[in-house]
Amino acid sequence: MNTRPTGRPFFFAPGPTNIPDRVLNAMNKPTADFLSPEFLAVHARVHEGVKRILKTRQHLFMYAANGHGAWEAALANTLTPGDKVLSLESGYFSANWAQMATELGLEVETLPADWRQGVAMDAVVRRLKADTAGEIKAILVAHNETATGVMMPLPDVRRALDEAKHKAMLFADTISSLGSFDFQMDAWGVDIVVGGSQKGLMMTTGLSFTGVSERALELSKRVETRRSYWNWADMLTRSPQKFPGTTPVHMFYGLDESIAMLETEGLDGVFRRHRRFANSVRAAIAHWGGGTKSSATISQAGIKGPIGALELVCAAPKRASDSVSAVLVPDGFDANELRTLAHNRFNLALGSGLGPLNGRVFRIGHLGDLNEPMTLGALATVELALGAAKIPHHRGGVDAAMNVMADA
Ligand SMILES: *Cc1c(COP(=O)(O)O)cnc(C)c1O
Repeated sequence: MNTRPTGRPFFFAPGPTNIPDRVLNAMNKPTADFLSPEFLAVHARVHEGVKRILKTRQHLFMYAANGHGAWEAALANTLTPGDKVLSLESGYFSANWAQMATELGLEVETLPADWRQGVAMDAVVRRLKADTAGEIKAILVAHNETATGVMMPLPDVRRALDEAKHKAMLFADTISSLGSFDFQMDAWGVDIVVGGSQKGLMMTTGLSFTGVSERALELSKRVETRRSYWNWADMLTRSPQKFPGTTPVHMFYGLDESIAMLETEGLDGVFRRHRRFANSVRAAIAHWGGGTKSSATISQAGIKGPIGALELVCAAPKRASDSVSAVLVPDGFDANELRTLAHNRFNLALGSGLGPLNGRVFRIGHLGDLNEPMTLGALATVELALGAAKIPHHRGGVDAAMNVMADA
């Protein structure tokens, strides 16, 4: 139980994220007939808006579901049991999407990687070049691995496919990158994009979608995986309503408003803001840990090697995520104790360590509806909680963050 009911709760998990008052207010409307011309105009506007954010002129299907639903829709519509897919390992989310593919009867091959780095691109090129028979039908990539704060460079994956002259479809999970840093479906040759409402899009959980290339839609017509709710062919017959069943109209009102907010700031401005805040958060973390860079590695089996001080999980600076930072706590300390303390005493919610990182990592989400005072306030509170939890750290992380913010 939170012991401080006064003031606003500070929500700094990497999803769901803060919902702006403007978006909450936009949903405060009476029920509408989802087939009325008034609502269909909103529906169409949201579809076009999501396509602009995906940077695509191709196809979009939306679902009344969280991201897991769109994950399944992507796989079930485009692949047949027995098809081989290549999963680029980056952490808990890449592993879970691959697990779902296995459950749907696909043959999953994982290109293994240290969770602190994600798969190296030369390994991708080598694997694709070796697949001379073209057995790999799709590559699954988590654009932003929310569990580790590792960003996978999709344009490089595209280049790897092109260099190997490989025809596999490129699948990208953008659930925690979309609306936070750059993504370009068409320019990067991404065939299937998975997105969700509750992270960079600043909305409630429960609306997800897939961007689908012309080629993937064509391929989907010959697929044998059983599907009903997710079936694109069926959804295409339902125009203009599109949803099988009732359209969640209030979610469209909310998303309409959040798209307007993002586009008023301008996507490039939104991305710059996320980069500044990410750099500031990383500066604070580096300061707390005294700049320690251990050589420990992480896999599904856990952490290998000693962790002596607070440290960013992501050990590949070019891949450090602009939307989430995962932080390792030193050996012998409990990240969950820190999170509980931050929440119960100070009203600050932080993300937990996922899978093998539970108790070893806490995560700071720096995406969505954030400004300078919120970000600095959260960092100051993390520092307060580190002190209360007696986790060794250097004081002054907030100053380090402010220096970065002021310079940018
Ligand atoms: C949050 C997240 C998901 C899961 O989305 P849900 O809406 O919780 O089902 C999948 N992939 C990534 C990269 C995520 O960040």
